[in-house]
Amino acid sequence: ATPTALLVGTGRAAQLGILIKGPEILESTRQVDTMVLDKTGTVTEGRMQLADVLAPSAVPTRHVVGMAADTGVDDLRAQVLNLAGAVESGSEHPIARAITEAATAGGTTLPRITNFSNHAGRGVSATVDDGGTAREVLVGRPSWLATQGVAGVGDDDEVARAHRHAESDGATAVAVAWDGEARGVLTLQDEVKPTSAEAVAQLKQLGITPHLLTGDNRAAAERVAAEVGIAPENVIAEVLPDQKLDVVKDLQDRGRVVAMVGDGVNDAAALAQAGQRGLGLAMGTGTDVAIEASDITLVRGDLRAAPTAIRVSRGTLRIIK
Ligand code: ADP
Ligand code: MG
Repeated sequence: ATPTALLVGTGRAAQLGILIKGPEILESTRQVDTMVLDKTGTVTEGRMQLADVLAPSAVPTRHVVGMAADTGVDDLRAQVLNLAGAVESGSEHPIARAITEAATAGGTTLPRITNFSNHAGRGVSATVDDGGTAREVLVGRPSWLATQGVAGVGDDDEVARAHRHAESDGATAVAVAWDGEARGVLTLQDEVKPTSAEAVAQLKQLGITPHLLTGDNRAAAERVAAEVGIAPENVIAEVLPDQKLDVVKDLQDRGRVVAMVGDGVNDAAALAQAGQRGLGLAMGTGTDVAIEASDITLVRGDLRAAPTAIRVSRGTLRIIK
């Protein structure tokens, strides 16, 4: 295409809420044959809601330090939510926001935390002041908790089973542990954006193969994929943030011209990698880090802007006035 045509293209795109960093980007956009979509916040709303607090009754009460022996499961559930909410107040992850929101509902104030630490794609930890008792609280994947020396997350343990069960139902689930022992499970639900299925259908019509990429569990990822029309073999789940880049590289090594769409801090490296030979697209509703790493920003956070950007670059878009 001529430079003028490209400039016209970027102008049209801007009118449609698609911000392109430079006209030359439209040239590589034309070649794209594969689109990798981040799940949380890109295909889904990214506004998770707490669905359930599970404190398997088989957790022996003698392990619940500082609680009376006859303490009921409901008190334990309240404590699971309260302590997890406190730790998650240090994180901005959609999981964290959902948990903190639920834990503070009804005006409950959260215990103070110190030594907060975030383990990307795995979970969070902090020291929580639980009514004068300092507790080391961890919230995250059971497999990560196990590496931190937490007991009660073995395959046959109640917490691990409750976690697996929630995940096989298609929920996002995290385990909560303190004082070295797994105590409960929090399950979360996220809604697919109403425009995502149409966006995926449009991509397929353009001959582009959509993939779903996520750090979340496979069942939750496949549930979302089925809802929007992405084939199960194109679902790449349980990917750690630093491996998202390798997924893009792998596809590139197989000769694909990859566009990646993401919104999170954990998508930035993969977005930049896609941009080297294809295209990185950030949700305008996402993090600044993702936007900076990308060639294109989809201002409204509507995934349909992704196929629109492809159509603009192919010069096949007609603006209907
Ligand atoms: P996604 O790719 O969907 O954006 P992430 O890579 O951010 O997901 O996270 C992957 C997994 O890591 C989550 O499903 C969760 O199990 C765990 N995790 C990440 N951040 C947190 C957090 N703040 N609290 C608890 N668990 C977390
Ligand atoms: Mg995301």
